[in-house]
Amino acid sequence: MHPFHWVPALGERHASTDHRPSGGYPAGSTITTLCDREMRAEVGEMAWLWNTCPACNAEAHRMVGGVRQTATV
Ligand SMILES: [Zn+2]
Repeated sequence: MHPFHWVPALGERHASTDHRPSGGYPAGSTITTLCDREMRAEVGEMAWLWNTCPACNAEAHRMVGGVRQTATV
């Protein structure tokens, strides 16, 4: 399991390491993203069709590559 979650916000899909409640981030909850911004999570079918934030995507890949040997989360 990866230490981050994908969350749609501000028209893009971002990744965040904030604790995520089971069932996902509630709409409107403030999250800190891997691209180092704070934004409110959005929900809905259409939100998952948005483009992936390039900065979050790059950081997520870096994290996945770096946590393989210590997958404690
Ligand atoms: Zn982002």
